Amino acid sequence: MLFFYSCKDTAVIQRSEPADQKVVEERLQIEENLLKEKEIAQKKKDLEERYRIKIAGLDTISDSDFVNIEEYSGDFMLDMKYATPDNFLKEAVYDCAKCYIRVPVAKALLKANDTLMKLGYRLRFFDCYRPYSVQKKMWKIFPNPGYVADPKGGSIHNKGAAVDISLVTLDGSSIDMGTEFDFFGKEAHHSYTKLSAEVLAHRKLLKTIMENHGFKTIRTEWWHYNFTAGRKFRISDFRWECE
Ligand SMILES: [Zn+2]
Repeated sequence: MLFFYSCKDTAVIQRSEPADQKVVEERLQIEENLLKEKEIAQKKKDLEERYRIKIAGLDTISDSDFVNIEEYSGDFMLDMKYATPDNFLKEAVYDCAKCYIRVPVAKALLKANDTLMKLGYRLRFFDCYRPYSVQKKMWKIFPNPGYVADPKGGSIHNKGAAVDISLVTLDGSSIDMGTEFDFFGKEAHHSYTKLSAEVLAHRKLLKTIMENHGFKTIRTEWWHYNFTAGRKFRISDFRWECE
């Protein structure tokens, strides 16, 4: 059997004149955009990988251990008020600003922050685990059960299962929550609604995300969140190192 091929030369037209400048620029722009998209996709992949590895790191240690949240993510903002005199006690009761917390609480916070970051926000910490001896010191300075938990019963902060938090934008700008941290008045209550729609939306966002990750509010402080599954932990007086 014989096959016959019909070959036809394809004529290649060589342009002698320079390519149109506008076309070249457009092509360059397309290439640049593609490169940018690729870079963004890679950055997203790297972030997801980093987050996965860090959460996995927490799986290898005991639930009752305390961890320094900054070792698992650089995405939180730390504004530890009790390490400065900028608090209602008017004196620093911590030697340095650290956020230590029990392992399952840290995992929940990492996940909550990840969700918030997709919406353009991050968590700002005012207080995390609070050693029992500091609770006693606070009580000595300000023995008012309306403001400080009596060391007799202790606080969920002493168990490493409560956090005082707010929101900031991704670039670290403050978010209006209606009152300052540790404002002890009705305006800080969850039931108080005489606030701007914006403030109410911020409080609702924080509350929704935290509740979705296993935390519960208390009635009087918009910033305080208890990790429900963390109540089982004992009150501790573990003290973190300050360099
Ligand atoms: Zn608190």
